Amino acid sequence: MVKSFYIHIPFCNNICSYCDFAKVYYNKNLVDKYLTALEKEIEKVYQNEVLDTIYIGGGTPSSLSLNETKRLFKILKKLKKSKRLEYTIEANFDSITSEKLDLYKENGINRISFGLESTSPKHLKFLNRSIDLTKVRNIINYTKSIGINNINVDLIYALENESIKDLSKDLDFILSLDITHISTYSLIIEEHTKLYLDNVKNISEDKDFEMYEFIKDKLKKNGFNHYEISNFSKDGYESRHNLSYWNNLEYYGTGVGASSYIKDKRYTNTKSLTKYLEKSFIKEEEILTLDDKCIYEIILGLRKIKGIDKNEFSKKYNSTIYEKFDIMDLLDKKLLCEDERYLFIPEDKLYLENEILLSFIGGSSSGKE
Ligand code: SF4
Repeated sequence: MVKSFYIHIPFCNNICSYCDFAKVYYNKNLVDKYLTALEKEIEKVYQNEVLDTIYIGGGTPSSLSLNETKRLFKILKKLKKSKRLEYTIEANFDSITSEKLDLYKENGINRISFGLESTSPKHLKFLNRSIDLTKVRNIINYTKSIGINNINVDLIYALENESIKDLSKDLDFILSLDITHISTYSLIIEEHTKLYLDNVKNISEDKDFEMYEFIKDKLKKNGFNHYEISNFSKDGYESRHNLSYWNNLEYYGTGVGASSYIKDKRYTNTKSLTKYLEKSFIKEEEILTLDDKCIYEIILGLRKIKGIDKNEFSKKYNSTIYEKFDIMDLLDKKLLCEDERYLFIPEDKLYLENEILLSFIGGSSSGKE
């Protein structure tokens, strides 16, 4: 049963130098047409399930004007919402206003994820972003004052010429905002981004590791739980929407470039806005075998610090994780650990996640046949 719903709003007022998401410059005419297409897609796919989480992401959802945002919420009124709904919207500080926050609140939003990324003028310039830290503080205070207390802030680290001191300053600022959730992303230079075209390189793995350890240490000391490779929260404030992905549960994804997982299929929408506006929504469809589902379960589940619930796995797949995968070598090398209930990557080996996954999946029973 699908309980999570994602909506992608691809518009941004400014294009960041590192961005490879599905996005375009804000354009009023395009927004109108996009919302019309989005409404059609939702009508086509949504089967009236009662939803536990809704997530409006982007792009920059806060780039929409007040009237456009009202129209978006009118479209989303058709979604059935459970009493324990987690309803998130992403916002950027350059486009958010107190009027938009009031509108979010009126329409049931109870979680906001803000893109901050850095506090240093030098690094913001590198990322092609601009931020007024006084506005950040005022907006966060206003968000809390209207009763939206579940607040995430995104941070990007591992930037060219970034020192631990710079990182520490960013974290100090974020911690001073007294929020409930922090997402941290190590910068990866993706193809087709401005940074890639400018020939900027990723920082060394050693430096990246040092920064990751610094973040984990500092945030834990300040009362945050590290619950997923890149995510930290105060008790009870984990992102339930994102946990539905990492728990390999079904979800709808609507909008340009979004993906869905429904029954035995994963769907990926077109990244072309032109095709999307022509209502040619889906680009790819992947039919999943039981083995495919197992592999997704591992890839997604091991992102959680708690790891994979071995009993749940057995119930879902009618065989134990040991029958499905040959993991003794990883356990012997302490690249995987287990307790009675969970199988997990130990915290000091999380930076090796990709290598561990390759080895894990290489040891699947389907892979050996
Ligand atoms: S990083 Fe976010 S705000 Fe920047 S261009 Fe990409 S989607 Fe837009």
